[in-house]
Amino acid sequence: MADPAECTIKVMCRFRPLNSSEVARGDKYIPKFTGEDQVSISGKPFMFDRVFGSNTTQEQMYKASAQKIVKDVLEGYNGTIFAFGQTSSGKTHTMEVRQSEGSLHDPDGMGIIPRIVQDIFNYIYSMDENLEFHIKVWSTSTTQLASITKNNLSVHEDKNRVPYVKGCTERFVCSPEEVMDTIDEGKSNRHVAVTNMNEHSSRSHSIFQINVKQENTATEQKLSGKLYLVDLAGSEKVGKTGAEGAVLEEAKNINKSLSALGNVISALAEGSTYVPYRDSKMTRILQDSLGGNCRTTMVICASPSAYNEAETKSTLMFGQRAK
Ligand code: ADP
Ligand code: MG
Repeated sequence: MADPAECTIKVMCRFRPLNSSEVARGDKYIPKFTGEDQVSISGKPFMFDRVFGSNTTQEQMYKASAQKIVKDVLEGYNGTIFAFGQTSSGKTHTMEVRQSEGSLHDPDGMGIIPRIVQDIFNYIYSMDENLEFHIKVWSTSTTQLASITKNNLSVHEDKNRVPYVKGCTERFVCSPEEVMDTIDEGKSNRHVAVTNMNEHSSRSHSIFQINVKQENTATEQKLSGKLYLVDLAGSEKVGKTGAEGAVLEEAKNINKSLSALGNVISALAEGSTYVPYRDSKMTRILQDSLGGNCRTTMVICASPSAYNEAETKSTLMFGQRAK
């Protein structure tokens, strides 16, 4: 078994490379890496469990942020992996890129989620015949995503007082492909609002859960672990996106739910007796995979461009609170 006393919240920080428009504009590359766990922005140092520069591969990222959690989930622990950062900082790149989307520089460019799915199935295929596995995946669909952001989604509790979301797509899966299909289904409907930022800002959190149940049919021993994989909505300040009306309301709600998440993570990191899970629907949903002896990794994604300096500093500050 994994050591339950082990520190369970890890915060890592990843800088993407300068993108083509930043290069074209002649933006300065501002992060200075001063060790495996420290980065400075304009002389201000930030400490994390690990920091990753712009040429970090997807495989290195997976090994550092997720591999151990997957192993623990297969031993019956619960876990959560978050990607946090402003729009276009590399959250989805880190979490989701498929094999077919690998870039020229990183042909094996798959992100964390497809690697997790592959590892779980490799483990299952390698086990002996006495073990029976049930893999259940759960993915937020359009309306449910939007509602989580708006904080009015109805969260219910089952007979063991474990919170769940009513009406989410739930199904049993038997191959890595089927798992990835479930994500695509949720995504094809995903709520996207356009803001003044260069890219489309995906103004909603994308939450994906994979639950692995195992039963040894000879000894009847059972194990169950679940893992939440969360690609958070862009954390940028409302002012910069120039949002108005409904989009502005939505942005405020997102910022509220992100700060509620920050409060929960920092309460957990400090070992507080009171953890404000009830302050947002998202933290309610994730409650049983965040506290106790759960495994949590937050990947803080950031732009290296001087243009985004203020946003990058506030992103790194958010990550620092969880330390
Ligand atoms: P987010 O999900 O935070 O809005 P994306 O993951 O969509 O941001 O990244 C924005 C763009 O930058 C995408 O075109 C993506 O391919 C690219 N990108 C992000 N991170 C990296 C990286 N580490 N290496 C190469 N390209 C990246
Ligand atoms: Mg994204």
